[in-house]
Amino acid sequence: MRLLSIATLAVLASVPRASAAVNVVASTEDLADLTRQVGGDRVKVESISRGYQDPHFVEAKPSFILKLAKAELLVAVGRELEIGWLPPLIQQSRNARIQVGADGYLDASLTAKILEIPTTQITRAMGDVHPLGNPHYWLDPGNGRRVAKAIVDKLSRMAPADAAYFASRYADFDKRLAEAEKRWDALLAPYKGLKVVTYHRSWPNFTDRFGLDVIGYVEPRPGIPPSPGHTIDLIAEMKRQNVKILLVEPYFDLKTPQSIGRETGAKVLVMPPSVGGEKEITDYIKLFDYDLGLLVAAIKETGAK
Ligand SMILES: [Zn+2]
Repeated sequence: MRLLSIATLAVLASVPRASAAVNVVASTEDLADLTRQVGGDRVKVESISRGYQDPHFVEAKPSFILKLAKAELLVAVGRELEIGWLPPLIQQSRNARIQVGADGYLDASLTAKILEIPTTQITRAMGDVHPLGNPHYWLDPGNGRRVAKAIVDKLSRMAPADAAYFASRYADFDKRLAEAEKRWDALLAPYKGLKVVTYHRSWPNFTDRFGLDVIGYVEPRPGIPPSPGHTIDLIAEMKRQNVKILLVEPYFDLKTPQSIGRETGAKVLVMPPSVGGEKEITDYIKLFDYDLGLLVAAIKETGAK
């Protein structure tokens, strides 16, 4: 092994020290992973909600206030997904940097493609938890890419010395995601137009992207629990259209879905919509690998088409 020359050591010493990692809090594990994908070792990221929790309803634990108090950047899903729990945490953190509208607050929905934007005014008094369009937009890989880019832009402004590093991390993520999309498209190609029912309206970006047709929901409106009348109508419609797949997010009670499954012969498929929803789902790309694998296995099992 050759010893480093004095000249080499001098060059190494003159390389500017990497800036300290940016302290980031993300509201969900999906956004935390996208931040890690592009931020690498120049970010320190924690998420507030866990991937197995209903992101509309998260317990606002006081420990999160301390994390937010130290954060330099808060990445949120937006579209009022977190309205029930994030605003009080932000406020109580007393951290001016991450208040809504401040430089350290990033609403990830602003550059994403948002579906189901209401054409008439919907208020939360009506019980609908999607008043500003569908907030589950991360379930389209195209939106994952857009959000990753918005995070890179934000981090590059906060830590300009690391901008080239973030850009190269983004290029690598973009490439890996594009390769994965080819794989997913091939996997789903035989099932274009397959009819499914979902419990909550978590999946419009996912079903649009992968060519599935959602014909109904177990919830009468997003956030409204199933009612007997609605369930009877849904069963009739599923029989009429021969729907064999019923997707349920892991945090909903399975009683109604299972009775619908018994009546219609549909398979009740519990499918996690977030990173961390199952222990195998350790990152954003694995989320789609896992869910699409699960879905295709269920389609084959039921013989649905
Ligand atoms: Zn929702």
